[in-house]
Amino acid sequence: MKIDGSCHCGAISYEAEADPDLVGICHCTDCQKFSGGAFRIGVPVSEEEFILLSGKPKTYIKTAESGRQRAQVFCSDCGTHIYSTSIGDEPKVLRIRTPTTNQCNQLPPKSQGWFRSAQTWVTGIPAIPSRQKH
Ligand SMILES: [Zn+2]
Ligand SMILES: [Zn+2]
Repeated sequence: MKIDGSCHCGAISYEAEADPDLVGICHCTDCQKFSGGAFRIGVPVSEEEFILLSGKPKTYIKTAESGRQRAQVFCSDCGTHIYSTSIGDEPKVLRIRTPTTNQCNQLPPKSQGWFRSAQTWVTGIPAIPSRQKH
């Protein structure tokens, strides 16, 4: 399906083609650290199907314990994560952060990765007292 999105300040905007069946949550500790949240949510998009409409995202290369490197691409003004991808010359797949899209509600996650490092309370969220606004 066609998706489009932007960072929080609006400097970066994009459109792409994504398969809604491939949306996944990642509970790895890097995703928790980068997002300041319990997990990140992404959908893979091939680089040929990603069109940057505006802005110049910044890239941070993270190195995993395994030595594997990955580019984290974000807005240098507002800090919004746009996607991560491999580094090197091979054809790239961009893992778009679905909450930056305008279609996030139509892109519910279909799988969860790195569940062994998930926050222990994450499965209990529906039971936590909630308010409709802050
Ligand atoms: Zn921004
Ligand atoms: Zn992760």
